[in-house]
Amino acid sequence: MNPLLLDVPATEWNLPAAEPWRQKQLREWIFQKFASSFAEMSNLPAPLRSDLTGRFRLAAVEPVKIQGSEDTTRKILWRLGDGSLLESVLIPANPGRAGDRSARLTLCISSQVGCAYGCRFCASGLEGWRRNLTAAEIVGQVLGAARIAGRRPDNLVFMGMGEPLANLPRLCAAMETLTSPEGVGIGARHLTVSTSGLAPQIEELAKVPGQFRLALSLHAGTNQTRDKIMPVNRKYPLEKLIPACEVFVRAKRKMITFEYILLKDLNDDPAEARAVVRHARRLHAKVNLIPYNNVEGLPYERPTEPAIRRFQKVFRDAGVEATVRREKGHDIDAACGQLRLREEKTALPS
Ligand code: SAH
Ligand code: SF4
Repeated sequence: MNPLLLDVPATEWNLPAAEPWRQKQLREWIFQKFASSFAEMSNLPAPLRSDLTGRFRLAAVEPVKIQGSEDTTRKILWRLGDGSLLESVLIPANPGRAGDRSARLTLCISSQVGCAYGCRFCASGLEGWRRNLTAAEIVGQVLGAARIAGRRPDNLVFMGMGEPLANLPRLCAAMETLTSPEGVGIGARHLTVSTSGLAPQIEELAKVPGQFRLALSLHAGTNQTRDKIMPVNRKYPLEKLIPACEVFVRAKRKMITFEYILLKDLNDDPAEARAVVRHARRLHAKVNLIPYNNVEGLPYERPTEPAIRRFQKVFRDAGVEATVRREKGHDIDAACGQLRLREEKTALPS
C-alpha cells in the first residue's frame, strides 16, 4: 500500500523542481478545499496528478457512517486504509438553531485504534489497544470532517478513542500540521489534548511549543477511588500526576481543565469533591463534570440529579469553577469508542 502523502515530509514529495508553485497548489487543495483525491486537483497537470496517485494515498479516512443531522452533534465512523474503524464527533456550539452555519464547530478526534489503559467506564478500552494512528490519520479526521461539514472546524479536542500521550511523536507531528499556516491553520489555543494522566509525557508535552490546552481526565480526588476506575493510577498516582501537571501549567502559563465523569456510588461522594478542590486550587484548574454516558455491557450508572447538584455545590462553596457538561449526542453514542464498538459487534458474528 502506498504511504499517505501527509506522513511523508514535503521534501520527499518529489514535485517538479522547475515548478516551485506546485506545492502551494497541492496544499490549497488539501488544506483549504479538503480534496479527497489527486484526480480532482484541476489546476495540476494530468501527468502530475497520475504520478501522485501512483505514489501516494491522499485521504487517510473514509466515512462509513454518519449519525445525527447537520444542526446537531454528528458522529462520524471512519474506515482506515487497513480496515480499522475509528470515530470523530462534530459538535456545533448551538445545536438546534436550524441552518445556523456561523455557530462554532468543535471536532472531537481519536489518536489511537482502541486504547491500552482500560478505564473501567470507557468503551474505547473494552477491546484493548490495536495500534497508534499516524500523523496523517489524525489530521485526516479533521480534513474529512471539514469535507462533510463544508468548512474547517473551529476547535479540536483529542477526546475520542485512544490515549494521545501514548502516541506522542505522531500527536506532535499532527499538531504541527494542524496549527501551521501552511497546513490546516487552526490556532493552537483552539486545540485541547486530553490525557488519562501519563505523568512523564505531560512533562514532555510542557516542552512542546504552542499555546494548546491540556485536559486531565481526573475522575477521582483520591488514589483509593482513582485506583478502582483507572488502572493508570497505579503507575502514576496523584502524588506523581499533580506535580507533572504543575510543570505543564508553569511552563505554558495556561489553565488546565479537569474532566470528571460522575459515576453513581463510585466517585460522587462530596468528600471526593473536596479532594478534587484541593488539586484544583493547587493547579488553578477548572472542573468539567460529565454525567456518565451509558456503555452497553458496562454496569455503571450516572448519579441522580440531586446527587449531581450536591457534588457541584462543593466546588461552588469552595470558589472553584465547576460546570456540568450536558453532553450533546447522548442519544447517538457520543461517548468515546461507543459507535465503533457497536459497529464491530454487529459486524462480527458473536
Ligand atoms: N484517553 C484520553 C482521551 C480520550 S477519552 C483521556 O482519557 O483523557 C476522552 C474523554 O471521554 C475522557 O474524559 C473520558 O473519560 C470520557 N469518557 C469515556 N467514557 C465515557 C462515558 N462512558 N461517559 C462519559 N464520558 C466518557
Ligand atoms: Fe483510554 Fe481515555 Fe478511555 Fe481511559 S478514558 S480507556 S485512557 S480512551
